[in-house]
Amino acid sequence: MGFKKFIYKYILKRKYYRTGHCIRCGACCSKIYVNHKKDTIKSEEEFEKLKKLHPFYTYLEVIDKDDNGLVFKCNKFDKEKRICTIHKFRPGICRRYPSEVIFKMGAVMSEDCGFKFTPIESFSQVFEQVKKKYKN
Ligand code: SF4
Ligand code: SF4
Repeated sequence: MGFKKFIYKYILKRKYYRTGHCIRCGACCSKIYVNHKKDTIKSEEEFEKLKKLHPFYTYLEVIDKDDNGLVFKCNKFDKEKRICTIHKFRPGICRRYPSEVIFKMGAVMSEDCGFKFTPIESFSQVFEQVKKKYKN
């Protein structure tokens, strides 16, 4: 096993490698669902309460509602220049985006995103491990 794989798998406890870079499409700043206590925010009343918990929520504006819940856009995204206007001071969740953790929470990445996730173990490797486990 290579050093990179070892670090990702056993130290960082990841299942995917993240590759690529941000191409500033703005998708992750323009269509946002807010997760709280394992569920997405579905009403403006719920969201008003959440705003008191972190300044990031005060940047968000409701633009729609669908089967998943309220859909927000961030007011700190400049659509013309395609930049975050508070880039240096952007919240931790934006600095880490896209992280494996938020996908475990149910987030879906935009198809246009310049980042890609590829499994650390291929399907056949996982299959072999499962086979070995149940053989013993
Ligand atoms: S704070 Fe910046 S990076 Fe974070 S969602 Fe808003 S515009 Fe995007
Ligand atoms: S969706 Fe991906 S490429 Fe687009 S702004 Fe967000 S991180 Fe960058």
